[in-house]
Parts: sequence; C-alpha cells; structure tokens
Amino acid sequence: MDTNHITADLPARIRDAERVLVGLGTEWGAGSGRDLKPAYEALAKLLEGKDYFIVTVNVDGQIYDSPLDGKRITAPCGNLHWYQCQAACTTDIWEEGEVADGKCPHCGAPLIPNTIEAEHYIEEGYLISWREYTAWLSRTLNRRLEVLELGAGVRMRELQVLRWPLEKTVFFNNKAHMYRINETFPQISDEIQTKAEAVKENSVEFVEKL
Ligand SMILES: [Zn+2]
Repeated sequence: MDTNHITADLPARIRDAERVLVGLGTEWGAGSGRDLKPAYEALAKLLEGKDYFIVTVNVDGQIYDSPLDGKRITAPCGNLHWYQCQAACTTDIWEEGEVADGKCPHCGAPLIPNTIEAEHYIEEGYLISWREYTAWLSRTLNRRLEVLELGAGVRMRELQVLRWPLEKTVFFNNKAHMYRINETFPQISDEIQTKAEAVKENSVEFVEKL
C-alpha cells in the first residue's frame, strides 16, 4: 500500500483540527515487545499545542511516563501500577508501594493490579478520567475533529473501547475525519468510508516515521 500521501496529509490534518481524539490499541502496549518510548515521544510532538484526548486499552502505564499530558489520558482497562483489594471489599485504589505488606488494609485480602484482568475489577481507578473524556467528547460535536485510531486490532476490548465508539463518533460529527492505522485489520465500515482512511501498517512504526 502506498502510504506516502498519508504520511504527508496526516500532520497537516492534525494542525487544522480543533480537537484530536487518539485511540491506542495493543500495538502501543507492553505486549508488543517494542521499546515504545520513541513512539510516545513522537506522538507527544505530533499533538503538541492541540486540544487532544487519548483513550488507551493498555494497562502497562508507560504512557504516563511519556511527555503526553496525563490529564488528557484515560485508561479504562486499568493500570498495572495501581492496586485494588482482590476481594473488592472497598473501592479504594492504592499506588505501587503504598501498602507495605501488599494486603488490603480493610480485610487483609491480597492487593492485586487494578485492571480488567481482576476477577472483581474496581472501576473507580479510571472513572474520574473517563468522565473527563466523555465531557471532552461532548464538546467535539460540530468541531473539526481528527480521530487517530492507532494499533487497535479486533480483540474485544479494542472493539468495545476503540473501534466501535470511534466510528460512531466520526459518523455523528459532520466535520470529523479518521485515520485507522494498524497492521492486522484496518478495514473501515461503509457508513464512514468517505470520512476515513485505512492504513495497513504497524502504527508505532508509522508514528515514529512522521
Ligand atoms: Zn479488602
């Protein structure tokens, strides 16, 4: 696929956009086996000065160590560096090392990572940033919105958190445009064909090259 024109158009579209919504799939997670630092730095540079929000399905927390603005990120699948009670006796969330013996101060059950892998996932860990995100999203209506969906394949969490809702957002906003970039399945639904472009390429490499 010839993606040269996209490499040129994409930064220009970002510059022209009033809002930029970024969805990060598993290509941007620890499971990719890559050093993601340069890619996160390239993404931060691309978004510099823009009114953006990032939704990530990744739970490794690497994004919070990048130059990206932590107040503009939501991670609804959780964060491996935050802890919750395994028995979910409380909605309290603890940071790494905050509880020395690793046991719930309320009931004594082990503390486990606060991610969707937990049997009883405590959603309080991400709800504040999620509310910020939905409020931000409501302010994108009738704005020139550029959507960058990067590295989201077809795992259930990618479909539910990224692909389906992002397509819906683009569909309902007449001034929206979207790039769907991933190496496995970049197909775009018929409803938004005229407003979206698909790139079958690894999105981490793509962003690093910009
Ligand atoms: Zn407990």
